[in-house]
Amino acid sequence: MPTYAHTLPKAWLRFRSGTIPCGACGIVVVEPVDNSAEKLTAVAPGKMPDGYAPPVLDLPVGLCSACNGIEQSAHGLLLAFPNIRASIGSHDIALHRLTSAMYGLDAIGVRDAATIDRLTEGQRELRRLLDALAVLGGMARWTTTARTGMFEKIADTPPSSQRWGHVSEDLRQEIRSAVAGLLARRVERPRLILAPSEDGSPTGCMLCGVEGVEALREDVPNVWTLMSADPAAIGGHPAPDTIDGVVCSRCDRAIDAAHGVGQSAMTLSVRDFLGLPTHLRSLEHISLIGWAVMPKGTPPNAKPWEHADLSDIRHSVNALLGYRPLVSA
Ligand SMILES: [Zn+2]
Ligand SMILES: [Zn+2]
Repeated sequence: MPTYAHTLPKAWLRFRSGTIPCGACGIVVVEPVDNSAEKLTAVAPGKMPDGYAPPVLDLPVGLCSACNGIEQSAHGLLLAFPNIRASIGSHDIALHRLTSAMYGLDAIGVRDAATIDRLTEGQRELRRLLDALAVLGGMARWTTTARTGMFEKIADTPPSSQRWGHVSEDLRQEIRSAVAGLLARRVERPRLILAPSEDGSPTGCMLCGVEGVEALREDVPNVWTLMSADPAAIGGHPAPDTIDGVVCSRCDRAIDAAHGVGQSAMTLSVRDFLGLPTHLRSLEHISLIGWAVMPKGTPPNAKPWEHADLSDIRHSVNALLGYRPLVSA
């Protein structure tokens, strides 16, 4: 397809404002002398002669020193938390997302080091920051504003008179509430969520017998899972009917891993409770009794597996791990 870019007026190869915007916050910057400028693809306006495709041009976009500093911090965080980069796959995409999230904070004026440290201090915090702000922060980038017009309008998009001046009040509001959620979540303490029972009487996990599990509010729906079990499979007397109840999240994971409710699941739950590394595969022959088949009236446990005598297992675990317990369990 022939093009005729050489016939375009020279001014069209630049933004019509004659300036280079920071691709993030939008203020006017000096065009970088090297080739590091981001390029924004634009389509030349006007009518084309038949058979000619409209020329596609790259308009250079810069990065101001403040936005560049934010990108460098994001880069440093990805180096410090390689799992974040690995879970996203590409380094470039991870950097773009994390930088966007941090631009989101900057756009609403969250700049004090203490708050930014709180929101980026660990892997969990970074995941939450990415979930909450990568998209919103991406929308705050000046280049996104320029692209939301038709390609033909990109060259007409003015730079921002002050940093983030192009960001709409609606978007700011959305970013603010996302950040408020992140900060609230950060100070929230886990609460004890008691095992639910039909009549409200105290009950426990069918397997480990624990009466409550500590959880953050948003995890509450996943703490307890309805379950039925064959009594004989969990160490009780054979009976024609299954028994129904709930299991805690640890035992639920164990049931998943064991592909069913039974001795293997209970063993996995005990191993997990005792902190036995999964690569240690002995102790498979222990025989356990699920709390649900204990004699009627057995109270639920404050700690998992209190109704079972785990002293032999603890002893073996300690021996395997090379511990010398100070107090005998
Ligand atoms: Zn900037
Ligand atoms: Zn349990």
